[in-house]
Amino acid sequence: MTQLPLRAQLASALGRSAATLSRMTGRGDGSVIGGRVGLLLEPDLLRKLAHDRKLALVSATNGKTTTTRLITSALLELGEVATNAFGANMPAGHVSALSQHKGAPIGVLEVDEKYLPEVLDTTGAGVVCLMNLSRDQMDRAGEIWQLAQKWRRALSGRPTHVIANCDDPLVTWGASTAAKVTWVSGGQRWKEDSWCCPECGGPLDRKDTFWACRECTFHRPEPQWALDDEVAVDPRGQRWMLDIQLPGQANRSNAVMALAVADAFGLPVERALPRLREVTSVAGRYTTVERDGRHARLLLSKNPAGWLEAFDVADPQLPIILSVNAQGPDGRDTSWLWDVDYRILRGRPVFVTGERRLDLALRLDAADVSFLLCGTFTEALAMQPPGRVDVIANYTAFQQIRSEFGRAV
Ligand SMILES: [Zn+2]
Repeated sequence: MTQLPLRAQLASALGRSAATLSRMTGRGDGSVIGGRVGLLLEPDLLRKLAHDRKLALVSATNGKTTTTRLITSALLELGEVATNAFGANMPAGHVSALSQHKGAPIGVLEVDEKYLPEVLDTTGAGVVCLMNLSRDQMDRAGEIWQLAQKWRRALSGRPTHVIANCDDPLVTWGASTAAKVTWVSGGQRWKEDSWCCPECGGPLDRKDTFWACRECTFHRPEPQWALDDEVAVDPRGQRWMLDIQLPGQANRSNAVMALAVADAFGLPVERALPRLREVTSVAGRYTTVERDGRHARLLLSKNPAGWLEAFDVADPQLPIILSVNAQGPDGRDTSWLWDVDYRILRGRPVFVTGERRLDLALRLDAADVSFLLCGTFTEALAMQPPGRVDVIANYTAFQQIRSEFGRAV
């Protein structure tokens, strides 16, 4: 790699010092503050740090942290990889990730959906991976159609190789201005945000994973890669049993996307797949915390689509604790709870906690789901018989449980 200009070197070094200080004083992992300091001193730092590297940007409403991790794990086969492993997915986090691995020839960056055009423009990344696009919490949602429109403009006229989930109509539309697209049939669990054609507004007809607009020519492209239950099918039609440790269909979909991205970097499936199998948890997700013989597995769910994925992973034989907050990162408005179909929980032992437990209780009551209301998560856990229990929590509720119970066991 070529040397960074002096000013960029200084900005990068000072950013790293700020990050270290932040960690030492217990103010977090430091990846955001370090990047901010760096960008303050050298606004062009991200472009300079990205220069000369092979970069993949990963964006979606759900699963981007996990997919970033899977891709990183695979590409370690090829050498050192710089990545924002802690989900700091805006430019300050990217600066921090690239500063910490200055010699890494490869970078895999999780990018917030709204920042994708800016980060693509700044870094000139060669590969972009797009998985799904659905509404996030109500008060941060914005217009996802407008977001896809911005993706289209950002990708148009670039040599970027896009890997995109063609089962999601909005992602397909957002990706289809790119010069080179590899389509992956990764499935789509949440369909409520894509009944209308993004091109003309007409109704979309669906049959299994296929979809087509009734009023214009927009339709699902033919995929090169596909997920067939537990098997990944590559462009030559060869079938690979995924057999990964991360649970659920959504993670198998993330794994197929990761294999397609690895392939774009020239890494064949037989070398990438064993690396994906090494990933057991991502930023605390799917890990288990233990107290007094109760083993609680933590599932993070930040939005309506995320709840459906968590229901898919949760064991129907086990009791389940649900915890909902409404702090800034969760979205202050909990009315999105009404978009989720909770009827799947009927007949199971359900325990409800979190700062907004009454909002969730009302929603469950309307869906005829019986539950017990608990003042705190600790109380909910103490009510369980010894053994396993699943926990679904939204963002700050999840973080509270993690900080109270420490890391994984
Ligand atoms: Zn149409």
